This record gives sequence, structure tokens and C-alpha cells, in this order.
Amino acid sequence: MTKLELQYEGKSKQIFRTDDEGKVVIRFKDDATAFYNIKRAKIENKGKMNCAISSMLLGYLNEHGVATHYVEQVADDEQLCRVVEHIPLEIIVRNIIAGSMAKRLGLEEGLEPENTIFDLCLRGEELGDPLINDHHAVALGLASYDELAKIYEISAKANLLLQEVLAQAGITLVDFKIEFGRDAEGNLVLADELTPDTCRLWDTATGERMDKDRFRRDLGHVRETYEEVAKRIANVLK
Ligand code: UDP
Repeated sequence: MTKLELQYEGKSKQIFRTDDEGKVVIRFKDDATAFYNIKRAKIENKGKMNCAISSMLLGYLNEHGVATHYVEQVADDEQLCRVVEHIPLEIIVRNIIAGSMAKRLGLEEGLEPENTIFDLCLRGEELGDPLINDHHAVALGLASYDELAKIYEISAKANLLLQEVLAQAGITLVDFKIEFGRDAEGNLVLADELTPDTCRLWDTATGERMDKDRFRRDLGHVRETYEEVAKRIANVLK
């Protein structure tokens, strides 16, 4: 595989074409942004840590029956991934109430509902990734009802697998965001990162936050925390 030119640059990742039309290289950057770009910083080593964490978790999901776009890690901060047709929806899976759900419904962070909660959001910063429902997604032509049902099923399975492996690392999976794509055969594929930027992770023993909330809420030790998450997951999966 040869890495070719830069195809797309986002806030935290770059995507490069390769000599294989069906694969891209995703490079994780050290840049951190929050609140739609209002807060920005560079966090040394974040790209490498996020690449390592995402590679371990996506590889684990691939091996346990959840198809993802991840193929292999090709550098400290780079992954080889399958090209998919991206669906512009964000699925948020919540095990514990936190963040925007706590705020929107006036609930205390840390409440543990008996069921798993799935939010559906339309991806698009201009509108602020608005919360929508299945009917909106179908009306917008983004996915069929059948596909949405499968998306929730795959998300639930990924949630159980991730909860299990993170529990072994002493980490509670509070919530996470994932996106999906369709492969050449139309199969749904989890096509996203799984990192402390996109998952809320709490230290099970102390309740300490081990995710991007450290950056969002100025809690300090962001770099050290991402390194600790990578180390703990590696101890379980490597
Ligand atoms: N999340 C994300 N990208 C988004 C929105 C949310 O990765 O555009 C993640 C976020 O890091 C958290 C989960 O999804 O782990 C739920 O986020 P929430 O809706 O609570 O929003 P927040 O208050 O974190 O912005």
C-alpha cells in the first residue's frame, strides 16, 4: 500500500488516498476542538494515543462480529481503513446520563437508567448536529427504517463489547458517538473513531473523567489521561 495525496482534512483527522481505490489512510492529529471550534488547542501525543486506542477497539470489534472500516494500523498515528459511503448521521449510545442529555432534560450527570439510550443526530455543524428521530432520517433519504433498525442493533452489540473490554481496564463507558457507512455490497459498516474524543470514559474506581471533558471543562492533565487510557486498554487487549 502506498499513501498518496491528502483528500480531506477535518478538525482532528486527515484522510489520504492510497494506490488501492478501496482504502484510505486516516491520520490522527494532535488538534483538539470543542464547542464547534470556539475552544482549540494542540495536545501533544493525542494523535498517536487516539490512533492506538481506536485501532485496538475497532480491531476488537472486527474480531467479535461488528464490521468496521478499520483494516490495520500503519504508523503511530495512521490507520488503513476501507472506503465506505458515509451516512451523515451520528448515533449516540448512552449507558449513564451525562453531557447534552443531562443539560437538555435537566437531569443530574451520573444517573443510570435501566435501558440503553440511543440518540440520533443529523451530522452538520451549520445546524449544530441537531437531535432528530428515525422518521426524520427516512424523510431526508439518509437511511431506510430497516437500516436504522440494523444500526441500533449493531450499536447495541458494539456497546456491550466495548463495555466489557473497558470494564477490564477499570473504565466505565458512559456514552459514545458512532457513525456508519455502506460498503460496496450495501452492508452497514461502523466507520468512525473510538477515542476519548468521542466516548465518555470514567475511571470506575474514582469516577475521574478520562476523556475530552478534561479539555472541554478545563480539568487539566489531558495528555496524561489519554496516555493512561491507551495504556490500560493495551494491557487488556495486547
Ligand atoms: N460526541 C461526539 N461528537 C459530537 C457530539 C458528541 O463525539 O459531535 C460524543 C461526546 O464526546 C460524548 C457523546 O458523544 O461522548 C455524547 O455527547 P453529548 O450529546 O452528551 O454532547 P456533549 O455534551 O459531549 O457535547
